[in-house]
Amino acid sequence: MHSQQVTAEPPSNDSVERDSTADDVPGVLRSPASGADRAPLVFDVIIAGCGPTGATLAAELRLHDARVLVLEKETEPASFTRIVGLHIRSLELMAMRGLLDRVLQHGRRRPAGGFFAAIGKPVPKGLDSAYAYLLGIPQPVIEHLLEEHAIELGARVRRGRAVAGFEQDDEGVTVELADGERLRSRYLVGCDGGRSTVRKLLGVGFPGEPSRAETLMGEMEVGVPREEVAAKVTEIRETHQRFWLRPFGEGVYSVVVPAAGVGDRAEPPTLEDFKQQLRTIAGTDFGVHSPRWLSRFGDATRLAERYRVGRVLLAGDAAHIHPPIGGQGLNLGVQDAFNLGWKLAAQIRGWAPETLLDTYQAERHPVAEDVLDNTRAQTELLSTEPGPQAVRRLLTELMDFDEVNRHLIEKITAIGIRYDFGEGPDLLGRRLPDIEVKQGHLYGLLHRGRGLLLDRTERLAVGGWSDRVDHLADPTAALDVPCVLLRPDGHVAWIGDDQQDLDDHLSRWFGTPAN
Ligand SMILES: Cc1cc2nc3c(=O)[nH]c(=O)nc-3n(C[C@H](O)[C@H](O)[C@H](O)COP(=O)(O)OP(=O)(O)OC[C@H]3O[C@@H](n4cnc5c(N)ncnc54)[C@H](O)[C@@H]3O)c2cc1C
Repeated sequence: MHSQQVTAEPPSNDSVERDSTADDVPGVLRSPASGADRAPLVFDVIIAGCGPTGATLAAELRLHDARVLVLEKETEPASFTRIVGLHIRSLELMAMRGLLDRVLQHGRRRPAGGFFAAIGKPVPKGLDSAYAYLLGIPQPVIEHLLEEHAIELGARVRRGRAVAGFEQDDEGVTVELADGERLRSRYLVGCDGGRSTVRKLLGVGFPGEPSRAETLMGEMEVGVPREEVAAKVTEIRETHQRFWLRPFGEGVYSVVVPAAGVGDRAEPPTLEDFKQQLRTIAGTDFGVHSPRWLSRFGDATRLAERYRVGRVLLAGDAAHIHPPIGGQGLNLGVQDAFNLGWKLAAQIRGWAPETLLDTYQAERHPVAEDVLDNTRAQTELLSTEPGPQAVRRLLTELMDFDEVNRHLIEKITAIGIRYDFGEGPDLLGRRLPDIEVKQGHLYGLLHRGRGLLLDRTERLAVGGWSDRVDHLADPTAALDVPCVLLRPDGHVAWIGDDQQDLDDHLSRWFGTPAN
């Protein structure tokens, strides 16, 4: 692929660092002389896909003034109204960026318990979060809110533009669109979903298991009284976990039923398919009619072998797919984006320590492995076979132990994640909850996506890192350690009270000081 013809777009923010050789196109980064035949570096990052992962990543990059272009294949946002669950860690991240109030207006809070393999248990005691609930929200709504936020921060989103090819060199990536247009950026991130074009073109392996069990899911009205539906559902769910009719407001039900025996996978399911499956399992089709949308999904489970090849990275479903049980996929992708955004921005701004960008894969690949495993386990627990049913009964008993219940819920809600930052107290590598500080709540101080030194000793300093790390001296902070250094994603990067040790860790995470 050649890259002579490039569309020059004005930069979205003037404060982005520029190459001193930039000349005739205002704000355009020029390749150095050795790359004279290469196109100008118009963007810092091109993101393929404006789903929840791509939109979140765009916003995180914009917090650091990176010039971001999001290319989205579809001309219009999705119209189906599938409800997804935002789990505790994602809600915390929304609070950390000042987005939570906006998101809460559109969702419905539910208890943060009872969703591991749909085993009905109460919320475990002692979930250490100010946001210990599940927020049900239609996927298109959360996607819209995330995209709107990214645009407000200055990201460009171009719809109806599919990434079809790319070529990387030592200075950047030339991205080719389906219509033949070519664009140039320093980095490309594939947030283009489970069938990711970027991943396939990179040649990154996607090993795992193909789909074994297919499920129909849709929204429609029912023709029988609510009590009748509820009674039948309770009866059927004693043996069939992949089955529900859940009221969704205004007479509409969310319907889930196994797709076994329903014809061609390539064809969208019909209302008749739903009726037939409902009759097979429940002995009645509940008089379903007037479908809003109908879909089918499988339980394929796959994980990309690598998250980065040179200047091209993968995030979200492009990097991992798994069954929707436990409602983790969107959450996982959004959290990938929070992990990657500040690191990629640091690379672009020129202060990233040499290995920082590679910590993205080192930290997030194991998290995805763990999610894949818990969905494999949950899928087994939904089987109607006697063996898995017996294991389910046993686990149901075990979950009466609060610690077991909490362990599983912390896994699914992602508040149990601890990145491996080396030896240290248990808090090292974990996220810090939204503790009280003298200005109010900690997360209110993290809206700009910078690092934070939370200092109860009042005698430490961030010195030459003050352009990227804030300092809050607060002896009253609700911490039981003297000081913590927080990364922009809210994970604890250092604990201690010694300035030299702090400086070493500031260097490790935030590079060379500015002065
Ligand atoms: C039935 C069901 C229920 C679910 N429930 C939950 C839940 O409760 N909680 C949860 O966390 N997750 C849930 N999920 C999973 C969740 O929907 C996905 O994990 C999430 O959408 C992944 O986000 P993403 O941005 O990584 O990818 P996607 O949402 O797939 O977005 C990728 C985007 O890239 C675009 N694109 C594709 N190719 C290109 C290209 N070549 N160029 C440019 N753009 C391109 C696509 O049009 C799309 O907009 C559920 C999934 C299913 C099927």
